[in-house]
Amino acid sequence: MIPVTSFAGKRVAVFGLGGSGLASAQALVAGGADVMGFDDSAESVAKAAAAGIKTADLRQIDWSGVAALVLAPGVPLTHPVPHWPVGFARSAGVEVIGDIELFCRERRRIAPDSAFVAITGTNGKSTTTALIHHLLVSAGRSADLGGNIGTAVLTLNPPRPSHAHVVECSSYQIDLAPSLDPRVGLLINVSEDHLDRHGTLANYAAVKERLVSGVQRDGTAVVGVDDNWCQAAADRIEQRGGNVVRVSVRRPLPDGIYVEQDQIMRAAGGTATLVARLGGIGSLRGLHNAQNAACASAAALALGLDAAAIQNGLRSFPGLAHRMEQVGHQGATLFVNDSKATNADSSAQALACFDDIFWIAGGKPKTGGIVSLAGFFPRIRKAYLIGEAADNFAKTLDGKAAYEIAGTLDRAVAAAARDAAASTAKEPVVLLSPACASFDQYRNFEVRGTAFRDLVLALPGLKPISG
Ligand code: ADP
Repeated sequence: MIPVTSFAGKRVAVFGLGGSGLASAQALVAGGADVMGFDDSAESVAKAAAAGIKTADLRQIDWSGVAALVLAPGVPLTHPVPHWPVGFARSAGVEVIGDIELFCRERRRIAPDSAFVAITGTNGKSTTTALIHHLLVSAGRSADLGGNIGTAVLTLNPPRPSHAHVVECSSYQIDLAPSLDPRVGLLINVSEDHLDRHGTLANYAAVKERLVSGVQRDGTAVVGVDDNWCQAAADRIEQRGGNVVRVSVRRPLPDGIYVEQDQIMRAAGGTATLVARLGGIGSLRGLHNAQNAACASAAALALGLDAAAIQNGLRSFPGLAHRMEQVGHQGATLFVNDSKATNADSSAQALACFDDIFWIAGGKPKTGGIVSLAGFFPRIRKAYLIGEAADNFAKTLDGKAAYEIAGTLDRAVAAAARDAAASTAKEPVVLLSPACASFDQYRNFEVRGTAFRDLVLALPGLKPISG
């Protein structure tokens, strides 16, 4: 745990007592703050109280003595409307911050030069974060992994000079971290998602840009420049004198990191040198993963790793569950779990990797549905539609690709496995890449992906592929 000492002797309200909120409360207590925790769920309040956190209904307290409101990242700060404790804090002039901000303040106090790597982007955050951590550890560096990827940042080891913190940041967490100042900041890409929480794309992109524009003075901003938002962000940071490393998987750059065929290249001052090759690395299949790998390599170079260490690390990267995870073969059919693809943009990356696809899609639909995926429909031998989105997706596919409304995942897996086995394709792929959130049928994408994996592993004659 990282005791947060910047609020020692002060009163701090903490709202949202799930995983990271509770960790914040405990880290603040350990650093000497007087913490009052609260949550809309009585069960969470009781749990926190049982863990030794003082709780109080934040509607009833005297806000004049409160130094800060620490908000869990899941609680709306702005959109669609600020959650009620934010109103109390604002009218009392109390700052509203999150756990990443607490981490930043503590790091500035105890190890301002430590290797703090922060990662954001619309897609690829977790893969890139895990990959940077893997590159560092496999090169013999000491490093912690946390943030939005799952481990609350304040439960990690305290910052120290020779130790790296590799931290995934969602836009919600950036919004709650006004002084976010990584040594190496990464903005992978920006596209339309989560607009429900940030209003407009411009606002959402501006929040993400803050992670790289806030990079420490002697630090490095790594920016994927293959979309206009990120391109503009890179230009702005450079105009202000910041150190920017541009990354592209679409075109060679005169200066920066780019991918050409399967090679990650570094260009500087008119010459390009090979950093690493991606060919044959199953966990980094697809152009989207080339973008993640190139961004991760740029971060690793900024932290002093050499090309050989990067190549070794890329080769041994096991990949993450639910992201293009190869589950197994039944005969010639490959089964791929891409449950994490909760929007059309993510599913596009998966559909681009294969030629003969038996596609399981659907769930709780996102704005725009799968209209943007029309270019991939010729690769789809048949679609198996599940969840709330099924009828809408059927309309989009009608006349362009074969489909059936399977309704549920078990029926979809059975039908897709049967049809794939009967097909004449050389390597048919049954791909769960839903282009939808999971909440209509599952608690989250992990539960959905695990259900898929279990159904596949139970198929007769299935040969599993392990990490
Ligand atoms: P995040 O943490 O940002 O949600 P993940 O690394 O967990 O991203 O990947 C989630 C899904 O997003 C993957 O399964 C893949 O379909 C897609 N994806 C991954 N990286 C990228 C990328 N660089 N660009 C576009 N889509 C991507």
